[in-house]
Amino acid sequence: MKSMIQNILQKSNLDARDIRLLLSVTEAEDIEQIRSNAYSIMLEKTGESVWLRGLIEFSNICINDCYYCGIRKSNRGIDRYTLSREEIIDSAKWSADKGYGSVVLQSGERNDAKFIGDLIEIVSEIKSETTSANLPNGLGITLCVGEQSYSDYKRLFDAGAHRYLLRIETSNPQLYAKIHSPNQSFEKRIECLKSLKDIGYQLGTGVMIGIPGQSLDDLANDIMFFKEIDADMIGMGPFIVHSETEFANLKPLYEKRKREIYIQSLLMIAVARLYLKDVNIAATTALQALYPMGRETGLTFGANVIMPLLTPTEYRESYQLYNGKPCIDEFSSDCFDCIQRRVESVGRKIALDQWGDSLHHTLNNKK
Ligand code: SAH
Repeated sequence: MKSMIQNILQKSNLDARDIRLLLSVTEAEDIEQIRSNAYSIMLEKTGESVWLRGLIEFSNICINDCYYCGIRKSNRGIDRYTLSREEIIDSAKWSADKGYGSVVLQSGERNDAKFIGDLIEIVSEIKSETTSANLPNGLGITLCVGEQSYSDYKRLFDAGAHRYLLRIETSNPQLYAKIHSPNQSFEKRIECLKSLKDIGYQLGTGVMIGIPGQSLDDLANDIMFFKEIDADMIGMGPFIVHSETEFANLKPLYEKRKREIYIQSLLMIAVARLYLKDVNIAATTALQALYPMGRETGLTFGANVIMPLLTPTEYRESYQLYNGKPCIDEFSSDCFDCIQRRVESVGRKIALDQWGDSLHHTLNNKK
């Protein structure tokens, strides 16, 4: 196995079989080889800096019923909230003062005119309120508010948002159908990803790892899909069971599969880095939900982005996509200090006052 992996790692372009083989390893020595190669590519392409995206989970109201998600419409057991405009803008300003450079505005999905209208105003207000000598173009703004129409994506872009995260969740259409309600469609999701790219957003997508029924081939195809859709940013994390969802009864099984899914998630980061090379890849909070050192470990497998929580503490309890979400009792300032320590603990440093755009996007725009 060792020499087979060495051969694959020497290739400059991997194919589907290579990707699948790299994702299948279980021996510590093999994992380490893949990790260290991915880390070198990351250093070469994106450098050792870690970019910050302050995450503001501004509303848990959602019109969708994704079967895996804790804030799905039919979960009646949570308090629904939407932050006021002031709360959102204050959080953004606080993070700009701290030097974050970028924020992510994330919420459940809504498509009504008020939601989009408010969001457009909030985006442009954040831009004007955070423009300073340190940030001459204001905070970088990433949106993560689900499937919207082309024209609404465009209006949000024109208001100043320049990155968008919309995970494909799985690139296997049959599996996608199994984890979403009948009114959601794989085709619609693809169409949205293409619209975002067409408008000029830096496009972020990703998948959950360990979805019930997901195979190694599915995961290999996911990585190839990222290239096909020309993603600039990747956010992936383990699937974690939430007790108020369709998958609640799988909790004991997932407790047993925890380590396997964790390793698989780390390998997905490394192999995505090896295959896509110059994209931004996040070390997501869900990794830390499985193991306390999950996010730092993600950085050592080739991730270069981290998303400290900025959601005001009193709302964090009500924004749990999965059980065991870390940091829900903490304040944004604790998260800032903590992230800094965590990043430094693996020999990396945080880049302050910079957007940290995806190199992939910058190079494509120069073509
Ligand atoms: N409404 C937005 C934001 C969704 S939440 C949107 O549709 O894009 C962001 C991500 O959390 C989802 O894309 C999904 O991949 C992840 N997520 C949701 N439930 C999860 C779970 N139980 N385990 C792991 N990740 C989950």
